[in-house]
Amino acid sequence: MAKSQDNSFCPVPWCSTKAPHKDDADVKALLETAQIPGELARWATNALTELRDSIERDSAERQIFALITRSRQVEELYSRAVYILLLATDDELPHMLSGRMPNGFSFHYDRVNESIFGGRGILEKDSKAMEMLHHGAHVSFWDAEYGRFRDNQRVARLQRPLETYQQNVL
Ligand SMILES: [Zn+2]
Repeated sequence: MAKSQDNSFCPVPWCSTKAPHKDDADVKALLETAQIPGELARWATNALTELRDSIERDSAERQIFALITRSRQVEELYSRAVYILLLATDDELPHMLSGRMPNGFSFHYDRVNESIFGGRGILEKDSKAMEMLHHGAHVSFWDAEYGRFRDNQRVARLQRPLETYQQNVL
């Protein structure tokens, strides 16, 4: 069945929900949490802190494959949190909290970059860094090669995007 751009239950184009997101008990609970000032920001901060600590441990131990597979989560969670906290309309919020597609990285990053980062988002400028994040999120063989050959020149090719990433995100 082809997806329709319009959905009477949700204002987000291409959403395939068959009922209002607010009818879902988990979305309801998240919407209640979102009403507590600062609570979603605290959740995001705690999660980002755990990711940062884990990535720093992997970096120190040269666990390159593990580091790459989680690197997009930092950018994606930060961008999603900024979008939800500062840009999402009341109508969009239930969709964002539902996790239903479209809800991926590119869905909110472009808008956050334009509206909040003033177009200075490093992922728009450094395609190698964005490529690394996407590959890592999909645990491709490209990443396995970097993890497997962690001591040879393949890792050296990752040095610049990793440094860019660590300077700007960690
Ligand atoms: Zn939706």
